[in-house]
Order: sequence, then structure tokens, then C-alpha cells
Amino acid sequence: MSLKVQALRKRYGTRQVLDGIDFEVIPHDIHAIVGVSGSGKSTILRIIAGLDTSDEGEVFWNHRSLLKVPAHKRRVTMLSQSALLFPHLTVGENVTLATRSRSREQAERWLNVVRLGDRYDAEVHELSGGEQQRVSLARALAAEPEVLLLDEPFTNLDPNLKFDLQRFIRDLVKELDLTAVLVTHDREEAMLMADRVTLLESGKVTSTGTAKELYESAPGFGDFLMIDGELRPLSDVMVSEAVGEPVRLMKKIYRFGQSFGEYHFEDGRSVMLPTHESFQVGTMYRIKRKEG
Ligand code: ADP
Ligand code: MG
Repeated sequence: MSLKVQALRKRYGTRQVLDGIDFEVIPHDIHAIVGVSGSGKSTILRIIAGLDTSDEGEVFWNHRSLLKVPAHKRRVTMLSQSALLFPHLTVGENVTLATRSRSREQAERWLNVVRLGDRYDAEVHELSGGEQQRVSLARALAAEPEVLLLDEPFTNLDPNLKFDLQRFIRDLVKELDLTAVLVTHDREEAMLMADRVTLLESGKVTSTGTAKELYESAPGFGDFLMIDGELRPLSDVMVSEAVGEPVRLMKKIYRFGQSFGEYHFEDGRSVMLPTHESFQVGTMYRIKRKEG
């Protein structure tokens, strides 16, 4: 059930936006495509979803050409930056429309999944931005996709909501055994959410690998710390100032893959934290200056 993108090329006018893109998404992975704005990320997703065509190349799902399947028959749905709900329909009607059987019961089921089970009859404008994005997710899931395409869906959310929704979507993709492609310009987001990462530059793939491999080989992925068995960006972890003094971890944590031992602070200080143990929020730890 892997999703394989092969030698994808796309030109708009004189601009070669995709210049031979290859990557493979392992089933049930969240695969991040990371690149600056204008690097062609959305174009890749639109081609996979059938909202745009490629000039050359192929996309395979289950070893079959996906590009030959009409868009509405692809088991692929996309979640974008804006929730794009119909404002004249209720929350629930927006989701019902997306279900294969146009069933209220199914829609309620998906609203329950995104923890909005009691908002079926609410008007769209009564919901917060984060809630609307969850409705949008319910709508995407209601179509029963095998592949979920996430086009920077957290961009317009405030930091706390963003963090909650990142975690929520990651857990959901794993729980529902979906395969997801997340495009983002945010390397920290890729580290937090993705199993594998592909870097995109000027329409070409520059590297691809596990999140940890990319973290170690490419700059700009932020500083992370394993706490309570989960990986957190250092920016979310508050420690006391004084080196050698006990520090208290102040923030609740996310998932964890592996920790990396050395942490750089904004003021140029770098510290070692033990990597063999899991940290607990609210507990005191000592940090010490890195040797050399
Ligand atoms: P990203 O999502 O990485 O920001 P896009 O895939 O949206 O990048 O766009 C890549 C480039 O292709 C941009 O320079 C954009 O202006 C151009 N582009 C995207 N869609 C179209 C289109 N329909 N017509 C012309 N140019 C387009
Ligand atoms: Mg885009």
C-alpha cells in the first residue's frame, strides 16, 4: 500500500515548478515534504489528489497508477490551510455531504472522532478556527480515504491550538491506519509529526530519510528534548537560567522518538542532558555545560 511518486514534472508557463520529483511514502507513515513557500509542495499534493495534472511522471498507490484514476474515485482527501466549510450549511451538514452514503449517522460518528459530536446543528461561524479545522478533518475522514494529504493545515492556528491539532492528527492517522503526506515549510512541525521527511528545493528533492536522519544531517530542524518518552522542541521546554542548578521542566510533552543529548540555547550556551532516561514534567533536573 505504498504511495510512490516517480519522476514528477510540472511546468507553469516558463517556470519548471516540479523538476523530477521522486519519493516513496511507507504505508501508515506520516511523510513530511518540507520546502520554502513556492517550492512546489501544494502542486505535488494537488497532482496526487487529482486537482491538477502533471506534465510527466507517475504516482503509484498499491503499485497501480493513481493518475489514471478519476479524481473522485481516488481514496485520497486533502486538508488545507483554511477549513473551507460551506457557511450556509450547519457543521454536521458539511460533514454529511462528504460521507459516501450521505448519512447523518456517519457524519455524527466522524464528528465524535474529532470531539465535536455535540455540534452537528451548530452554524459554522459559531465555531473557533481550531474547531472549524477539526470539522474540516471530520469531513476529510468521512470520505473514508486511504491517503490523507495535509497542506499546511496548521498555518492559521494560534500556537496552542496548533500544537493540540498536530498531536491530535498524528494520533488519528496512526489509530485509523491512514497514510499521510504533510507538506509544510516548518521543519519543527515536520520533526514533531513525521516518521519520514523529504526536503524539496527548487522543484527537486534534496534529501529524504527518517525524521532522525534528517535532524542529524540537515540544519534548521530546531532543538528537541525527550521528555516523558516523547520528543518536544526545546522552545516548549522552560528550564531555569543557571547552569549546574536544578531545572524544572514546565511544559507537558509530546511524543518521543530518540533524544540527541546536546542542546543549544539561544544565547549560545549548549548543554548535555542525559538521553538514556525519560524526563518527567514538573521534576527537577540538573543541566551542565557541554565539555569543549
Ligand atoms: P508551495 O505550496 O510550496 O508554496 P506551490 O506548489 O503552491 O508552492 O507553487 C509552486 C510555484 O508554482 C509557485 O511559484 C506558484 O506561483 C506556481 N503556481 C502554482 N500553481 C499555479 C498555477 N495554477 N498557475 C501558475 N503558477 C502556479
Ligand atoms: Mg502551498
